[in-house]
Amino acid sequence: MPWNGGSTWRMRKGVAALDTEVHGRVHAALEELTPRLAALSLDLHAHPELAMAEGHAQEVLTDALERGGFAVERGVGSLPTAFVGRAGKPPGPRVAILMEYDALPGVGHACGHNLIAAAGLGGALAARMALGDEVRGEIWAMGTPGEEGEGGKITMLEEGAFQGVDAALMFHPGTHTWLVRHATASMHVTMRFYGKAAHAAASPELGRNALTALLHTFVMVDALRQHMPETARIHGIVVKGGEAPNIVPEYAEGAFLVRALTSGAAQALWERVRACAEGAALAAGVRVEFACGKMYAERKNNRVLAGIFGDYLAATGEEIEQPVLRGGTGSSDIGNVSLVLPAIHPYVAIAPDGVAGHSREFAEAARSGRGQEAMLHVAEALAHATVDLLVHPELVEEAWASFRATGPDLPQ
Ligand SMILES: [Zn+2]
Ligand SMILES: [Zn+2]
Repeated sequence: MPWNGGSTWRMRKGVAALDTEVHGRVHAALEELTPRLAALSLDLHAHPELAMAEGHAQEVLTDALERGGFAVERGVGSLPTAFVGRAGKPPGPRVAILMEYDALPGVGHACGHNLIAAAGLGGALAARMALGDEVRGEIWAMGTPGEEGEGGKITMLEEGAFQGVDAALMFHPGTHTWLVRHATASMHVTMRFYGKAAHAAASPELGRNALTALLHTFVMVDALRQHMPETARIHGIVVKGGEAPNIVPEYAEGAFLVRALTSGAAQALWERVRACAEGAALAAGVRVEFACGKMYAERKNNRVLAGIFGDYLAATGEEIEQPVLRGGTGSSDIGNVSLVLPAIHPYVAIAPDGVAGHSREFAEAARSGRGQEAMLHVAEALAHATVDLLVHPELVEEAWASFRATGPDLPQ
């Protein structure tokens, strides 16, 4: 079912008509930028970089921002591959366009972050080109590294990088075009089991098997599944299982993700997973240590910003579907940002329904012609939305009012 627009979306039609000239410049700017954005998205795709090691992406994105008149800070707080490009000046709203650019181990850009980066760059550059020096307020082009597991946005938030930001805009490629979507809270946990090595045949009684404890953790977590909400997810891998079959494994390591609808529910579920591991360690006579990553929070989609973005996305010809707030979802560190300030994380289809994210097929879609087309449409919608928010600060006030009046999106 196509998106029929909210009341905000319809109300805004009148506002947009007042700014025909500046919006016309957005379109012209994007036509000029198109070859560079397309090339950049393919370049990032061909050079996949893991979370927090995105040196090449940072270089090409910040160079482009600098050439586009942005004052660039490379490395933000404790994150060397984060960046912020700033244009404009106060007073006025501070609108941030967020970019992700990390890839996945083994499957490369199977989450399509190369398209997020190119669309965000295009949106920021085109908005700056359209507004020229008359801009009141600021455009921030924020490079947020390590979305896949490292929670770059959470660190940036904790370290104050989002201070004073009024709106955070970004998109994510997907298999549907949805302006709003819930997301589960999620926490990454590393489990380290310490046993005692011994000859596995000559003196096994002297050994304490760390791998046994890890394997039993998996078994107990599987038993736990029948007692957890169907919206929760626990999944893990064996990172290290021993050195050789004739040595009792003295060290084993597992990596798990614990997800539930809210941060509180994920924390509570983690306590039970922890008990599984502690019980398994006790049984095997080994010691276990945990290293918990950052909690990716549930998501609060700002309907005012989603309406503005959706208006312009629809104008590019993208068919926007009625959002479905149920079913399996991933998690993103945009959730944490969205609980602190107005934010959107819409999805635009680049592959047919049934293609899984984080798959080799999705990685192919992230460099396909359709991927490029979607990226360019998003860049245009991001630029128009940014222009609207800067030219009409009352829209930013509306976004904040909506932020204060609503809570996170939870499945219906
Ligand atoms: Zn991903
Ligand atoms: Zn992603």
